[in-house]
Order: sequence, then C-alpha cells, then structure tokens
Amino acid sequence: MKKEEVLQQVIESGALPTLSTVASKLISLTAKEETTIFDITKLIAQDISLSAKVLKVVNSAFYNFPNEVGSIQQAVAILGTNAVRSLVLSFSFLSMEHANEPGGFSYEEFWERSLAAGVSAKLLMAKVCDDDTEEVFTVSLLANLGKLILATAFAERYSEIYRQASNCEQSLSQLEAKVIGAVHAYVGREAAHHWNFPTSLTQPILYHHDPDTYPGDDPLMKRNIEIIYLAGLLTNILYSGKPIDYHRPFREQAKKRFALDDEAIDDLLQRVNVEVAQAAEFFGISIGGTASIPELLQEANIELSLLNMSYEQMNRELVQAKMKLEKMTSELEEKNTYLESIANLDGLTEVYNHRYFQNFLEKELNRSLRRDLNLSLILCDIDNFKKFNDFHGHQVGDFVLKEVCRVCGEHIREYDLLARYGGEEFVFVLPDTGSDEAMIVAEKLREGVEKGEFFFEKMSYRVTISFGVASLPKGGRIKRSELIEAADKALYQAKKKGRNRVEMYQEKSGWFRKKS
Ligand code: GH3
Ligand code: MG
Ligand code: MG
Repeated sequence: MKKEEVLQQVIESGALPTLSTVASKLISLTAKEETTIFDITKLIAQDISLSAKVLKVVNSAFYNFPNEVGSIQQAVAILGTNAVRSLVLSFSFLSMEHANEPGGFSYEEFWERSLAAGVSAKLLMAKVCDDDTEEVFTVSLLANLGKLILATAFAERYSEIYRQASNCEQSLSQLEAKVIGAVHAYVGREAAHHWNFPTSLTQPILYHHDPDTYPGDDPLMKRNIEIIYLAGLLTNILYSGKPIDYHRPFREQAKKRFALDDEAIDDLLQRVNVEVAQAAEFFGISIGGTASIPELLQEANIELSLLNMSYEQMNRELVQAKMKLEKMTSELEEKNTYLESIANLDGLTEVYNHRYFQNFLEKELNRSLRRDLNLSLILCDIDNFKKFNDFHGHQVGDFVLKEVCRVCGEHIREYDLLARYGGEEFVFVLPDTGSDEAMIVAEKLREGVEKGEFFFEKMSYRVTISFGVASLPKGGRIKRSELIEAADKALYQAKKKGRNRVEMYQEKSGWFRKKS
C-alpha cells in the first residue's frame, strides 16, 4: 500500500483522534493575525474544567512563576498565545481516552512516554535558550502521535510490529514502512495537518527522528526539530529498557548540536524523571514513572558486568570441558595403545603373537634388502614337550612355556623380536645380525634354557630346546616364507641330530640369490 492509501484508510477507519471543540477552535483562532488575547480568553473560559486545569498547570512548579496567575487572561498575557495554545492542545490529547487492546500496544505507556518526551524537550529548550518551551513541549508530546493512530487503525498488525521492533525506533520505522506502507512520522504529520495545526507544529513531527533530513532553512524550526529529536533519545534512555544504547548517542548529539556541556547534560539526566512525574500530576494523568537515568544506567551496567561475568564463567567452563575432553582423549589413546599392544601379544606367554611376527619380519626383511643389511631368523621348538606334558600335566607345561620365554627374553637385544610361532615353538627375528652372530645368540639361548630350573609348586623342572638358524646374507634376495622355511629346515636338522642343539641352514645353490 502507498502511504497516501494508508492515510486514506486511517481516516476512513475513524482512527484519527478527535480534538476537543475548544482545541480545534483555538487552532484556527491563533492562526488569524487579528486574534486578540481577549478572544482566546473567551474561548477557553467557555470550558470551565479546561480553564481550571490550565490555571492549575500555570501556577504549578511546571512554570515556576513567582506570583500566582489568577485568570486565563493573565495566563495568556504572561505565557503568550502560542504557549496557551500548546497547553490547551496538550490537555486535549492527554485527556483522550482509549481502551487498551489486551497484549498489544499500550495507550497508557504511549502517553507516559509522550509526556516524558514533552518534558524532556522543555528541559532541553531551557538549557539551549529561554525560548518557546511550551511549543516544543507540545510538539514533542505529539511527535509520535502517528504510532497511536497506526495502533488504532491496524491494531493487530501494529502490535506485532511494535513487539518485533522491541524499542528500537529505527527498526520500528523500517517495519512500519514494510508491513503497513507508511511510517508513523508521516502519519502523525498528516493527522496534525488534518487538524489544521500550524507548520511550526507539523514539520517537527515529520522530521523528529532524523533532523538532518529537514529540507527547510528556518533556523528556529531546525532548532525545534533537533530539540525534539534529542528529547526522543532522552525518553528512550528512560523507557526503552536499553538505557546504555541511547545514553551515548544522546550525549554526543547534545554536544554536537547544541554544544551542551557535561554538567548541563548530567543535570538533565538527573532531573528528567522527577520532572516527568510532576508534569503528570499537573496534567492529571497517572503514570508508572521510572527511576532516575543515573540509576537506570547503573543498573544496566551492573547487568552488563554480570553478563560479562557469566560470559567469563562460561569461558572457564568451556576451558574446563576442553581440558576434560583432552584428558579423556589421551586416556582413550592410552587405552587404544594398550589394546593394540595386547592384540599383538600371545595370551599365555605375553611375547608377540604369530601375526605380529609375520608383519615384523616382512618389514625388517624389506628394510634389510633395501639397505643391504644382515638379518637372521631363529626358530626353536621345545624338545619332547608332548612327553613333558604327559608326565607333569598341561598346567606345568604352560608354566614352563612362560618361563622359557622369560629366560629367552633376557638374552636378546631390545630391537630383536621374540614371538610365539605356535604351540611350543618360538621364533626370534634379529635385525642387522649375520649368521655367525645369530649362531652365538642361539647357543646362548639354548644354554640359558638348558641351565634353567623352573620351579612350580615347589618342584623344579627343566627342558631343552632345539634351534634352527637361517640368515639373510648381505645383498641376498629372499622371500619371507623362504627364510622361515630355511630356519625350519635347520630346526629339523637339530631335532634329527639329537635335539638340544643349534643348526644353521646350509645354503644350497639358488636359495639365496645374489643381487645382480
Ligand atoms: P619334539 O622334540 O620332536 O618337538 O617333540 P615334541 O613332543 O615336543 O613334539 P610334538 O609336536 O609331538 O608335540 C608338541 C607338544 O607341545 C604337544 C602339545 O601338548 C605341547 N604343547 C603345545 N602347545 C602347548 C601349550 O600351550 N601348553 C602346553 N602345556 N603344551 C603345549
Ligand atoms: Mg613342535
Ligand atoms: Mg617339540
């Protein structure tokens, strides 16, 4: 919808508030040059209750006149026609009644904020110059009238927008333009125009959110627009629930636009909530009121630091969680390494198992071939172990298997491998070891076992072992299975020759081919 169509719809919907007879007559009267103080006095005096209200306000601290003002005529003479007109208009609006939509836009809150905007403008004007405080009061009071009109005309939609914008003027205007098709500043200005308000009142309504877009060159108008803009910021410090967000811009703008110093600004911030409460009393409206701005800011800063603190707390918890995770990961890694290691071990003897031996031999063989290194393999088999088991039982046999491994383990180097080949057969892989050396190692192993006495349940046992050695000569080429077969053949020879001895595989031509 275009903004003009929105306006038409607003007018047709009856959402425009009606001015009191006195107020609308007063507007046309003050627009005429020939109007006298007497004409105005006569008009206001027609409405006794309005006259009483005007006099009450004029005599209140809102004006702070030294002497009591006894009549409307005196009030008009002292305040001037514009000020009285503003006052009557303010009364006219502030006494409008509206039923609140449940859960939607709150009319009471709207008028409280509007009154605060009016009071803020008046206080600001007093700081800037001693001029026309009543006019800026009224314009500021009415500056957001468009919101009220839109809320009446588009109740549900506007409540939703209002809620979504959550006290951010900029996003409110954006949402109004997007969802409804017209912003409240435009609607408010058009409404004021409709009531024949003079341009001194209508222009500020249109530009109050963005004073720099005012295209005219009237310095007083420009000043009033800027005051009303600042009053809007001040009101938002009080009512938006986000005092910090509006405090800094207010300070900056007050300095930039009117060169207000910190002292003047602090005084405003300190007083404004009390002045609003007093004005509400003078105008006879009831408001919820707010704490002072310094208090609001202090509260918000405490909340902010609490928020920061909980952020730090959160951070600490994250770090702790991360440390816990790292600890768990390293424990898991340890467990995995352990699991991997036991997966490679023989369950009974705890030396490496057959699978691991095969992989190890493959790697070592390749490495030796690549680097032209020696490599020896020793295969051994416990002698007459079947009989041993038959005599002493499997349990003792198992114990002896473990003991044999322990003794053998003592006679090999760190980088040699001892593995259970299967049953009562074991295998040694000796990297970087030639045949002579391997024979010496095998002999030491044989001797070690032969001399070993293994005690089980106070009984001592002895076994012997036969060894078959096969060595890869430097520069030789051989497959893993061939080397094992060679050692096995040597072992067979050892058995054949009477057991408890070491035999070396005797190389036949073609077995270990020389490198070409
Ligand atoms: P040889 O000197 O010719 O090797 O004779 P042997 O009796 O040792 O040979 P054989 O292969 O006939 O028998 C091997 C025996 O080793 C049979 C089996 O009971 C025993 N054995 C194999 N594994 C285990 C084991 O884990 N525990 C026990 N207690 N005995 C085992
Ligand atoms: Mg055997
Ligand atoms: Mg055997």
